[in-house]
Amino acid sequence: MQQTHTLPLATRATDLVGSMIDSSTSLLAQQTHDIVRFAMGSPAPEAVPTEALAEIGRRVFGPGEASAYDYAATEGDPALRDALLAELDGTTDATSPERLTITSGGMQGLDLTFKIFTDPGDLVVVESPTYTNGSATALSYQAELLEVPVDHEGLQVDRMEEMVGDGRKPKVIYTIPTFQNPSGASMSLDRRRRLLDLADRWGSLVIDDDPYGMLRFAGDAMPSLHELADGNPLVLSVRTFSKIIAPGLRVGWVDAAPELQQLLISAKQAMDTCTNLPMQRLVGGFLADGHLREHVTTQQAVYRERKVAMQDALTEHFDGGARWTDPEGGFFLWVTFGSEVDTEALFEVALAEGVAFIPGNAFSPSKHFPNALRVCFAATTPDRIREGIGRLRRAVDKVSA
Ligand code: PMP
Repeated sequence: MQQTHTLPLATRATDLVGSMIDSSTSLLAQQTHDIVRFAMGSPAPEAVPTEALAEIGRRVFGPGEASAYDYAATEGDPALRDALLAELDGTTDATSPERLTITSGGMQGLDLTFKIFTDPGDLVVVESPTYTNGSATALSYQAELLEVPVDHEGLQVDRMEEMVGDGRKPKVIYTIPTFQNPSGASMSLDRRRRLLDLADRWGSLVIDDDPYGMLRFAGDAMPSLHELADGNPLVLSVRTFSKIIAPGLRVGWVDAAPELQQLLISAKQAMDTCTNLPMQRLVGGFLADGHLREHVTTQQAVYRERKVAMQDALTEHFDGGARWTDPEGGFFLWVTFGSEVDTEALFEVALAEGVAFIPGNAFSPSKHFPNALRVCFAATTPDRIREGIGRLRRAVDKVSA
């Protein structure tokens, strides 16, 4: 007879917190009424270069191309690696073969990095608010999180020093320095330098997670932490094609010191062997055909227009009742209401009204942002943005009534 057992779960299973951001994809897929979707951080559907990708797909994994369905080298398919190295040459993210590892999206870059750097109980600094899929990855390796506030100049480096205090050192500092998710803030040059100095003093690894840096539509270019670090092995960059081509590809990369590359490769071999080869060939073809620069330039103009449309709609409906950020690139605005608005309660009402966003507390392990929310302006046309913000106004009126 079968006996009744409690499941022999690992302790770390209790540290798996999931992601409200990702869960919104299936929640929204179940809805049958019209919804303006400001929730997910997806590129505009019309921005996905489907024609070029279809044409490249026919060529690189079409009939007769069986080799494209084989296992790939763990560090990445040579065609993609070469095209990416050439693409990044001369940019703030320039890298070299012994530093580059292709990953299954940015998320895998984060997972591999936390896996090789985090022991249970290690102190990991995260931004507040932060991209909680990243902080959840640190938690899944049983890190102790320290949430350090972000303002319009990014991570408050002085506060970080104070909050860490004497006698402790963070093992890892996880930052999204450019067009941060969710706040849209970019770290000033001065703070970038001070962050690197402090990390150097502590011997902490800095994870520079930057999916949006190429999508600048205002202001001046800023050197990446990678460029400022000038080869310092304590700075590791996580990058992805999710926002600049399409997220379903699940292709990204990590730039790390050569002495870390083999560890990343070993960790990846224990996880998924290699990144999906047909998708690597597709992305490699897109780069080798010279499409990326022009594609990104077109997107910058589209996103600039959409950001302004969203800010104008917010001014029309919420002037005096809320404040919001003014990013120079990326996908998101961060909107803060008065303390009377609970954005988790607002979510249900707004969904019924036909608009979706992500509540602020989804971006804070300690839930510091009950009256804020994140809206993605990138995926929606200006007309639909105006409609969606109008619906949000009606939902706020309902919860405040
Ligand atoms: N980091 C940040 C800051 C992100 O916004 C995202 C995607 N939303 C990722 C990492 C993960 O990227 P990917 O979808 O390529 O795994």
